[in-house]
Amino acid sequence: MIEENVYKLIALGKKMVSSDLTIADGGNLSTYDPEANEITITRSGTCLDELDIDSFVSFKLDNNVPAGASSETAMHVAGYRARPEFLCLLHFHPQEAILLASANINIRTITVDHTYYLAGRVSILPFIQPGTQELAAACADQFKKGSDILLLAHHGCLLGSDSIEWGLYTALNLEQAAKMTRMLGVDQGKTQIPECPSSYLENLKQSGVV
Ligand SMILES: [Zn+2]
Repeated sequence: MIEENVYKLIALGKKMVSSDLTIADGGNLSTYDPEANEITITRSGTCLDELDIDSFVSFKLDNNVPAGASSETAMHVAGYRARPEFLCLLHFHPQEAILLASANINIRTITVDHTYYLAGRVSILPFIQPGTQELAAACADQFKKGSDILLLAHHGCLLGSDSIEWGLYTALNLEQAAKMTRMLGVDQGKTQIPECPSSYLENLKQSGVV
């Protein structure tokens, strides 16, 4: 384990929870050391704002997953196999982004920051049972196609980055962009809000007010 990167993940976990990117034990964090071909991932049941060095378990990418590792470890292993340049994979349950992904609505990139961090990098996956090899394989497919930010409908986000700091900034921008997209209306205008009834002005005209 590269301790420096694990301590960065511990700090990142606190910021994720304090920034409302996830709550309770919603998510898991990992880092990959390509020289040692070793993955270090949070243990099952850990809360992202309560991590310490003992909250992590390390193993070689080609070995069996050790007992106690996160139930979603298969997704991380598949991610590093697909994109070995990733230094970290961040899995969290951001409410605004999940809401839009579950409705299959693409997150808009309206600001310069959102465009910088997100444009062309986000994919939405349909709901697949968490913790399964099926989900791991679907994530690997999307990573191989070049997406770095996978939105899992009704579940969460899996975000790969070659920098832990960049990963956090991307996650923050993802959730803010999702919030701004929702401000436009989650159905993107499909539901028509009726105009004020025309009888209002007609009645005013008849009464001589206008
Ligand atoms: Zn999850």
